[in-house]
Formats: sequence, C-alpha cells, structure tokens
Amino acid sequence: MLKLKPNCECCNRDLPPDSHEAVMCSFECTFCRTCAETLLHSVCPNCSGELVRRPIRPAAKLSNFPASTERVYKPEGCGRVA
Ligand SMILES: [Zn+2]
Ligand SMILES: [Zn+2]
Repeated sequence: MLKLKPNCECCNRDLPPDSHEAVMCSFECTFCRTCAETLLHSVCPNCSGELVRRPIRPAAKLSNFPASTERVYKPEGCGRVA
C-alpha cells in the first residue's frame, strides 16, 4: 500500500491524499508537481527514478487505510540551498 506522504520533500507544501498536485517515485519519495517539473524534471533526486502522478485514494477508504502523517523534508536534495 502506498504511504501517501503528507508533503513535498522539496518545498514542504501540503499534499493531502486527494491532491492532484502530488507526484511520487517507486520508493514513494513524494513531491508537488511544481517542484517535479521546475526543479527535478520528473526525476527523483533520491533514487533517480521516474516521478509520476500519485493516484488519489478514495475518501471512503481513508478511514481504514489512512495516509501517512510522517513528513519528509529534504530541500538539499532538490537543487536548492537548504
Ligand atoms: Zn514542492
Ligand atoms: Zn525516489
């Protein structure tokens, strides 16, 4: 099951489970679409994997299968000075 991390690793903006702005790699490194397109060129800075849009988890499923609340924020990996 996907972790559905709650924020972008690059800019720390919130990415709720119903956000169409979230992208992720196969290891669930999670970013917003803006960072993925402008900073990362759709390549994960952690694993060099492909970043694709994260699927939306239906709201009815979130009570039994909640999104992760563990924030990951690593701006130094995103070509930004931390
Ligand atoms: Zn971002
Ligand atoms: Zn990755």
